[in-house]
Amino acid sequence: MKLNSPRGTSDIYGEDIEYRDFVIETVRELFKVFGFQEIITPAFEHTEVFSRSIGESTDIVQKEMYTFPDRKGRSLTLRPEGTASIVRSVVEKKMLSSQELPLKLFYIGNMFRYERPQKGRMREFWQIGAEAMGSSEPLIDAEVIWLLSRIFYNLGFKKLQLRINSIGCSQCRGSFIHEFKEYIQPGLGGLCPDCRNRFEANPLRIFDCKKSSCRSIVSGSPKISGFLCPDCRKHLQGVKKILTGLSIEYYIDDSLVRGFDYYTGTIFEMVSHELESAQNALGGGGRYDRLLSEFGGPDMPATGFALGLDRTILVMKELGMGCSRKTGPVKTYMITLSGPGEAYSLEVLRDIREAGIACQVDYASRNIGTGIKKAGKKGFDLAVIIGDEEIHKGCVTIKDLDNFRQYTIDRTRLVKKILEITGVEKNG
Ligand code: AMP
Repeated sequence: MKLNSPRGTSDIYGEDIEYRDFVIETVRELFKVFGFQEIITPAFEHTEVFSRSIGESTDIVQKEMYTFPDRKGRSLTLRPEGTASIVRSVVEKKMLSSQELPLKLFYIGNMFRYERPQKGRMREFWQIGAEAMGSSEPLIDAEVIWLLSRIFYNLGFKKLQLRINSIGCSQCRGSFIHEFKEYIQPGLGGLCPDCRNRFEANPLRIFDCKKSSCRSIVSGSPKISGFLCPDCRKHLQGVKKILTGLSIEYYIDDSLVRGFDYYTGTIFEMVSHELESAQNALGGGGRYDRLLSEFGGPDMPATGFALGLDRTILVMKELGMGCSRKTGPVKTYMITLSGPGEAYSLEVLRDIREAGIACQVDYASRNIGTGIKKAGKKGFDLAVIIGDEEIHKGCVTIKDLDNFRQYTIDRTRLVKKILEITGVEKNG
């Protein structure tokens, strides 16, 4: 019997695991620096958690959710995104009453959407997200945007574009929707059946439609930016000012919308223009000031983002970006001419590993030159070389793969020397 993985899912192994570890380690470090704490919520929730918050007329809720009855007939859904679950949890566990505000949380988890699979678009994919709850200050919007752009910077991205817009509060949106419907009305027959339904139920969702006929009708429509109330306008100005102060480049995109109903005010997206791919948004987010109260929690504002882990890795690989960390545990590669099972080599291996230093063994090669080349290619810091002479004298040769300097030293001083060569910061 030969079975394949379900369409739109992937097995992650080999090089992809290295990229994944690199991204996750990089973001974990930054979450610490920016003061975010991890939260882990279930991979499935009661269906209303998503349908009510993301919006009944969104594509996600209408077409993309993995919804099923459990054995007792309750409707459950595999999470299509992270924010709704986090809000459900924060309200349920009353986290906002006992914490210093804003409450800053992050998550790393797999998400499920029944989409048409293509490059960068999967049915099961991973997101890394951050949420900051309890502050309406522009500083908090700027801080999450800063964190998102810092993540991509630290991963090595050079040319991402940060797009920002405000979709206003319910007050600004009321007058905009009125104007927008007047604009669309004459061309209503040219919209797809879904968008015709949206026109009545939730006209803003027409902006998300990927069909070219709908896109061309919408492209000339009035923009929400022209309808912002003084408070929303002032808030956006505040965010822009802080971003400028932080030297973060951004582009105001007044046609930017996001596919969930819960967004209010500032929204943003990180887009890669270096690839000719339709799936060029690597991450995005925005404010959701009403969601906590809609879930029965306090009337508190919030903001956050999610980035796609799989899509980020895909773009990194296509751009030829590496995934080796400049800091982190020292990685050594042992090349031993008499074979790794030989007693002296085993003792050296034990010394290194028990000192908490990663050491991989060259099981195959009996040639030092080939071994060193392999170690360099795979991003190791040092090669640990054991030949007949080393065994005979009770010493070890270390080659620094950064600058190819070589040291032969007594075995008892090996660990100390490794740490000395690589510097303390590599052991953080
Ligand atoms: P969203 O939750 O739709 O705002 O998406 C945030 C990020 O998650 C996107 O910018 C993508 O990087 C990633 N993402 C969303 N949907 C998918 C998908 N179907 N497959 C892979 N990555 C996705």
